[in-house]
Amino acid sequence: MRTIEHWIGGKGVCAPSPRTSPVFNPATGQQQAQVALAGKAEVNEAVGIAAAAFEEWSQTSLSRRTKILFSFRELVNQHQAALAELITDEHGKVLSDARGEVQRGLEVIEFACGIPQLLKGDYSDQVSAGIDSFSFREPLGVVAGITPFNFPAMVPMWMYPVAIACGNTFILKPSERDPSASLLAAELWQRAGLPDGVFNVVHGDKEAVDALLDNRQVAAVSFVGSTPIARYIHERGTANGKRVQALGGAKNHAIVMPDADLDYASDHLVAAAFGSAGERCMAISAAVAIGSAGDALIELVSAKARALTVGSGRDAESDLGPVVSSQARDRIVGLIGTGPAQGADLPVDGRELLVPGFEDGFFVGPTVIDHVTTEMEVYREEIFGPVLSVVRADSVDDAIALINANPYGNGTAIFTSSGETARRFQRGVKVGMIGINVPVPVPMAYYSFGGWKDSLFGDKHIHGPEGISFYTRGKVVTARWPHVDHESGSNLQFPTSS
Ligand code: NAD
Repeated sequence: MRTIEHWIGGKGVCAPSPRTSPVFNPATGQQQAQVALAGKAEVNEAVGIAAAAFEEWSQTSLSRRTKILFSFRELVNQHQAALAELITDEHGKVLSDARGEVQRGLEVIEFACGIPQLLKGDYSDQVSAGIDSFSFREPLGVVAGITPFNFPAMVPMWMYPVAIACGNTFILKPSERDPSASLLAAELWQRAGLPDGVFNVVHGDKEAVDALLDNRQVAAVSFVGSTPIARYIHERGTANGKRVQALGGAKNHAIVMPDADLDYASDHLVAAAFGSAGERCMAISAAVAIGSAGDALIELVSAKARALTVGSGRDAESDLGPVVSSQARDRIVGLIGTGPAQGADLPVDGRELLVPGFEDGFFVGPTVIDHVTTEMEVYREEIFGPVLSVVRADSVDDAIALINANPYGNGTAIFTSSGETARRFQRGVKVGMIGINVPVPVPMAYYSFGGWKDSLFGDKHIHGPEGISFYTRGKVVTARWPHVDHESGSNLQFPTSS
């Protein structure tokens, strides 16, 4: 069985922890490799190497850092197809979707290529007689990223290009379910000229994560994953004096107004609910149909959901692939069953789907659940599968109140032809990322990505300007170069400007 190793100090490392975890191909249901799981010893070794590398990397000129970033950008661009294949084979999503993921990660690398501009400080001349004041930002040291299975290339790329461009060294702890894309990224960094030890990959589970959270040399932690783990990471990391941004789970609602173009809205709802088998933190999992929009919407969405092709991610005919694991499939199938048991309708039921030739794969078909209420389990749980729940409401204000009562606040969208309604929605809703006739409103790399409420713990969103701020800390210098003939004598008064 092939073993997927850690990447520490510029090379693959396996020993000494004997623990491993299986890596499956979700389309076939077969184990294809095992990944080494780091214990405290490997994590502490990686952190020590990253701390030593920080001494030189943090002093490396902006020009040299930028050149390496541009080379890395070129290499990732050249290897988009290879990265996408690794993602498809371990995660299951279709290749076109995997390529889209790499493209969105590449955009963060491109953002980080502008680091000389992004790190420019401020300067104030003559703030007092003969005194100037200026500010600049410095890197933190060793920073860690802990990432989820559903975007094995893009989510780490939300973090490490920005952190490394700012002069930090990085330890990535990717999901143990699809670890290979991170290792290809590590090789590409090395080929781009990044000094060994600046970017390290440590595979593992809770043991490795806890070792990172408890290591005093780790200055900051970026986490993306489910809400219970995000809350835990934030609590333990901050208790240990670290800066922490922890992005959690989601339940994203899309409101469909009666004045919306329902054909357009249903096309986009189907894409947002079932793309990547619903395993996106920005997937739409709850549609809120207003008034007369409900019945027509259900008819359109159901017909379009039934027309989708589910199959291997490697098959160009597939619209969506399997979910990540047999446990995920069983959980999703179980949750779908609670819908009708608690009084909902099930116009499209994907539980019994069989994909010919892939009978052991972890497949669930697109599923539409209608007349869902907020007490039902399918509404309360983040299902993280190809399941769209449709809730009925009377007005946009009722829908906004429903969204605001939900504990999550990652993304949301509205379909309408009324500017007044859209504006009312964008101002009223307590959610971090909002789409107007755009169902998956993922901000571009030069904005920051992040939710509100239980979708983010910490106060900085990820990448964009808030990413630069998260991975650096500021200094303000007040400077005087006294004239050789300055008046002698001390003035003990608190300094004020003159
Ligand atoms: P997860 O929380 O199970 O795992 C995320 C990371 O935490 C992994 O690296 C995992 O190894 C580690 N981990 C798991 N259990 C742990 C524990 N007990 N202690 C310490 N570390 C632990 O999430 P997942 O299933 O990999 O990913 C899906 C979740 O991520 C969904 O909830 C989804 O909404 C969320 N997500 C959120 C965003 C966002 O931007 N808010 C983006 C992508 C995914």
